[in-house]
Amino acid sequence: MQSVAQPLEEVQKIFCRTPGGKKAGRLIQHFTQYASKVYGFSQMVRQAKDGRKQPHIKAPAIFTVAFFGAFFCMESMEQMDRWQKTGVFRQLVPKNIRLPSHDTVRQALMKWDLKEQRKQHNCVIQRYKEQRGPQKESINGWRVTAIDGVELFHTKAYRCPECLTREHRDKTTDYYHAVVVAQQVGGNANLIYDCSGWGGQG
Ligand SMILES: [Zn+2]
Repeated sequence: MQSVAQPLEEVQKIFCRTPGGKKAGRLIQHFTQYASKVYGFSQMVRQAKDGRKQPHIKAPAIFTVAFFGAFFCMESMEQMDRWQKTGVFRQLVPKNIRLPSHDTVRQALMKWDLKEQRKQHNCVIQRYKEQRGPQKESINGWRVTAIDGVELFHTKAYRCPECLTREHRDKTTDYYHAVVVAQQVGGNANLIYDCSGWGGQG
């Protein structure tokens, strides 16, 4: 992963700050070529699925935009629309496919096929192990994994049946979700091996 990590920092800089990021587009293309060859990234894009009925913009385009958004630490869904204006996404999605607005991405992700997503994640981890990734990224020969809980978001406005709750002194309640994550420590990859929902009704 080391050979990929360095140019990515450069891509991130260009992606976030420069309008018309042609150079970023080229670097991202190199990255996707590598990711496709080693980790089956193109297949992952093709297999992306969600439960919307007859959508104008299909799941693979949503996946591409959301993936690179997350990859470059996008701070909000609104930032996605601003990044789109730099032209970088245009180079990732075929010309005949319309780019999704942040609202469309949000609607698709609410109905995302998480089983398929988990299957893909397991394939990446499998491939990483075949490539001896955990050994290469060890710390003095030790393979280190951290297991920790993390809160994903919270709101006072809405709850689903799976929400955890936190009561405040002013009688208001936070509704939130949390996961337990097993993540590699050491090296460049910081890969998440697996995660599991925490609390709720389950
Ligand atoms: Zn919930």
